[in-house]
Amino acid sequence: MTPKTLPEGKIFIVSAPSGCGKTTLCKKLLKDKLKLHQSVSITTRPPRRGEHNGADYFFMSAEEFIRMIDAKELLEYEENFGFLYGTPKKAVEKLLRKGRDVLLSIDVKGAMNVRKNYPRNSVLIFVMPPSMEELKKRLESREADTAKAILNRLKVAKQEIACRDKYDYVVVNDRLGAAYRKLKDIIILEGEKDAAVPRDR
Ligand code: ADP
Ligand code: 5GP
Repeated sequence: MTPKTLPEGKIFIVSAPSGCGKTTLCKKLLKDKLKLHQSVSITTRPPRRGEHNGADYFFMSAEEFIRMIDAKELLEYEENFGFLYGTPKKAVEKLLRKGRDVLLSIDVKGAMNVRKNYPRNSVLIFVMPPSMEELKKRLESREADTAKAILNRLKVAKQEIACRDKYDYVVVNDRLGAAYRKLKDIIILEGEKDAAVPRDR
């Protein structure tokens, strides 16, 4: 008897410099009828105004985070701006086994690690700001960081933008509506491809 091929979902990974608009875009994707499941990351960073535990992140102490690393409960993790961020493994793998598509909003290093471990399932999308001036304005409009922290985020942004060619797709988030339509088109197109067929790259 031929063994049954289990369905496998896709992992859509959206990366963007901090402040570029990836949370805004991902929230729109999740509200749309795309059958995408969000992976909620864990972090040691304190919540920003309006963020909720379990929805935006699972906020936890460094001790709890390190316990999860040691117990191998994370798919990947990285340090950003002095805090730890990671993707819980169990929830993502459970969804993939059921053939569900998962949305990860993570940084460039995390994206490369996920692709290394799940080369057939991963679709990498990089969201670019229209300019560094506009990125600075968006970081300021969020009122979450000091001027010094914003300068640091802009420095890291330049390093991340330099990695955009490693991604399958690049979307410029200039006008929100147009950027969202491009992102949605990519997800629909890739969702129709067979995860069992190795991707060309
Ligand atoms: P990220 O998750 O990438 O750090 P956010 O989604 O929090 O970024 O967006 C940062 C700020 O930029 C927010 O105030 C958001 O409303 C705003 N923003 C997002 N996309 C656009 C856009 N296309 N045009 C103008 N402002 C935007
Ligand atoms: P912020 O503090 O602005 O929410 O996130 C800072 C950076 O951490 C962003 O680049 C964001 O994509 C990244 N990030 C959020 N969650 C994860 C995660 O689970 N893993 C990794 N590697 N990066 C993450």
